[in-house]
Amino acid sequence: MMWLGGAGDRHALSVPRPLVLVVEDFDECREMYAEALRVGGYRVIEAVNGLSALVQALACDPDLIVMDIGLPMLDGCETIERLRREAPTRGTPILVLSGHTRDVRRALEAGGDTFISKPCLPRTLLLSVRRLLSRRHARRLSS
Ligand code: CA
Repeated sequence: MMWLGGAGDRHALSVPRPLVLVVEDFDECREMYAEALRVGGYRVIEAVNGLSALVQALACDPDLIVMDIGLPMLDGCETIERLRREAPTRGTPILVLSGHTRDVRRALEAGGDTFISKPCLPRTLLLSVRRLLSRRHARRLSS
């Protein structure tokens, strides 16, 4: 491998940073989560409703999706169901964000992988994203 500078550069060359799609209609929350993920080393794209989430997910093939449930156009559960029907996003890890137990159950039944309750600290989100991605990575290596 070529060494072009410090450890940071080597890292950037060898491992592409995972791409995370953040779906949340409340601007302040979405921006806060997106910023936390960028600082944590992820690339981030954002969607403000379910339909736009579908379009972005199919166009950009994210490594993980952070999904709010209460969304305009198409709610988070319906969006997850549709994502699970499309081949490119069938296996994409989905982290559900919700404050309501009933919604969480629906979202996990629809195909969400795990959830964290809202409101959550950016640090909590970052930890859950990291855990879900490494779980996915480990499963891939063992299969
Ligand atoms: Ca919402």
